[in-house]
Amino acid sequence: MRILLIGPPGAGKGTQAVRLAEHLSIQHISTGDLFREHIARDTQLGRNARARIRVGRLVPDEVTIGVVTERLARPDTEPGFLLDGFPRNLAQAEALDGILADSQSQLDAVLDLELPEAEVVRRIAGRRVCRQEQAHIFHVDFDPPQVAGACDVCGGELHQRDDDREATVRKRLEVYRSETAPVVDHYQAQGLVTAISALGQVQEVLDRALAAIGQDRGELRA
Ligand code: AMP
Repeated sequence: MRILLIGPPGAGKGTQAVRLAEHLSIQHISTGDLFREHIARDTQLGRNARARIRVGRLVPDEVTIGVVTERLARPDTEPGFLLDGFPRNLAQAEALDGILADSQSQLDAVLDLELPEAEVVRRIAGRRVCRQEQAHIFHVDFDPPQVAGACDVCGGELHQRDDDREATVRKRLEVYRSETAPVVDHYQAQGLVTAISALGQVQEVLDRALAAIGQDRGELRA
């Protein structure tokens, strides 16, 4: 399956993407994670991306599209992929259309996670991520780790992402409204979009997402 996960910052894209990709046995590709890996390795690309990310702006399209094109060319994406955080504007959506056309493949679904803005700010303020593995995400109120400040999965130190501070979140929301919302319209015209409420518990949202793509979470219920 080839799926896009779209939604404002704080809607739980990363949290849901990890679970969905695992359930569907497909690659989870997050452009935000790819950039943060470059930043951690202090590559040229990471140094360029960092300044933009810190202020909540988008990394330039040619850089982002290059990273995604390279990632989608790897054979592990053949069974499918879940793109989290890409495309974030119309130019990127058109580039993705081109990549898919070149490989004679198409998207199966676009999941649009919806969350009121007041809730976005509340959620992001409490988000903490693991320094060792950024897919390990917690929330001080909604999903607290067992030991404050430590990752339940690997014991890594939890911290607040630089771009999760309030002023940056407001900028990211503005960018989302002006640049990313039109991407939803682009895919709506192709009949691919299902809107999903991101309110509620992680498992509830996951159930909605799986139902939207005709999957059952049965086997995950231990
Ligand atoms: P995320 O982890 O998806 O919230 O992304 C964190 C930041 O990385 C964003 O606020 C942007 O600065 C940058 N970023 C992630 N994905 C993209 C993209 N598709 N295009 C441009 N910038 C991106």
